[in-house]
Amino acid sequence: DELISQIAAGEVVERPASVVRELLDNALDAGASQITLRLASGGVRLISVEDDGLGIPREELTVALRRHATSKIASLVDLETVGTMGFRGEALAAINSIAELSILSRFAGADTAFALDGRTGELRPVARSTGTTVEVRELFFATPARRKFLKTDATELAHCIEAVRRHALARPEVGFSIWHDGKLVEQWRAASTREQRLADALSDEFVAQSVAVDHEGGPVRVIGRAGIPDAARSRGDQQFFYVNGRFVRDKVLSHAVRSAYEDVLHGQRQPIYALYLEIDPSRVDVNVHPTKIEVRFRDGREVHQAVRHAVEDALAAPRS
Ligand code: ADP
Ligand code: MG
Repeated sequence: DELISQIAAGEVVERPASVVRELLDNALDAGASQITLRLASGGVRLISVEDDGLGIPREELTVALRRHATSKIASLVDLETVGTMGFRGEALAAINSIAELSILSRFAGADTAFALDGRTGELRPVARSTGTTVEVRELFFATPARRKFLKTDATELAHCIEAVRRHALARPEVGFSIWHDGKLVEQWRAASTREQRLADALSDEFVAQSVAVDHEGGPVRVIGRAGIPDAARSRGDQQFFYVNGRFVRDKVLSHAVRSAYEDVLHGQRQPIYALYLEIDPSRVDVNVHPTKIEVRFRDGREVHQAVRHAVEDALAAPRS
């Protein structure tokens, strides 16, 4: 089982940012309103994610580290309509097999918090307010070959920040802060509008250079912002796609946007956009990739059309 977990870890965890992504998924699934990420040495020495969510009951703490332990789906029917970020019950088990993991958690309404040592399975009472802190130390300590593939701390940090940004753009109402080697490097306060979060976590220019998108096509709704950057500021890394709140990369979606932009941009500049697709969960399969970054639509054409029209309408409309 240890070996199977390590193999699963290879699929789920490529670098510190992959751990960050999984831990943020869990914190958001737990209903956190404030999430603090602490990193040391680009995340290789330490990744700690602290949330103020629901917490984990004492009796579920040790179980959470077992492979396929998930509190989120009970049946295949649930899998069809999964509304949480996690559902595979793999992440913590996988991380525990390739790093030193500990979990501190206090369940809502419980009178103590407990700390779980991932290696020994030992549980001891600690002081903590409601919520969970997951600490991951010495990533890939047992697999030096993997550790060798990591880039500099600065590069790994940049990937970690990008992982948080992807979550933050989907959840403006949640506050995020990121610390690295004891210094606060990013802080995005809970925002009441998506525009505010886009301005904070991307840039004021992103909002200034984009227009609102809001389009309904059949069972698909597309909202967000899309724009044309000033030539000088054109950057390829300002393209964000979400499906039911989950950041994804998808050929159907990017092709649809590219088609919409073709007439407007003549391929000279990289479009910038943050687009949020809302679709009936039964029309999209999110369980196609271990990292859940890919999805499969039941009807790719209807999604393509909706996205293309949404962006065309927005770019054609007077600036808003
Ligand atoms: P999954 O998210 O797919 O269920 P994980 O391995 O990521 O699997 O987590 C296992 C379980 O641990 C979750 O189903 C959840 O019950 C619990 N858990 C993990 N992190 C948190 C957290 N931050 N707050 C509350 N519960 C958590
Ligand atoms: Mg998870």
